Amino acid sequence: MDIVLVKKLIDRYPLVFREIKEQAEHEWRWRLDCGNGWFDLVDQACTGIEAECLYAMEIRKAPVGNVPHLKGVTQKFWQLRFRVGMSTEHSRRVVEIARKESSFVCEHCGAPTLHHQTRWTTLCDWCRRVGGSSVRGQ
Ligand SMILES: [Zn+2]
Repeated sequence: MDIVLVKKLIDRYPLVFREIKEQAEHEWRWRLDCGNGWFDLVDQACTGIEAECLYAMEIRKAPVGNVPHLKGVTQKFWQLRFRVGMSTEHSRRVVEIARKESSFVCEHCGAPTLHHQTRWTTLCDWCRRVGGSSVRGQ
């Protein structure tokens, strides 16, 4: 994912990205290792997890070390995969939804596509034709 988008996520979700934020900036891209087309899916999942963190800390007085956070995202078997630290039932459900939805979203441009098992790629027809060269593994 482009560093501009990665920075946007890290700024938007300080609790979700509290571990990644501590690392050197050049490592951030390797932690968020998927195409820009999946930005919205990552963004949606982070919205849910950040809200859960805030709730747990404010209402249940949970220490920051005990609430979920993202260790990284990647593309595996044509789907968006999340690694979540201190995961909860809620956070696992949130990332599971994003994983399933990624089968129907082009990793490169974000356009809706057929299920990946029909096309055996994370790209839409158009991106596949033009090469989708900036997408990992294509
Ligand atoms: Zn596309």
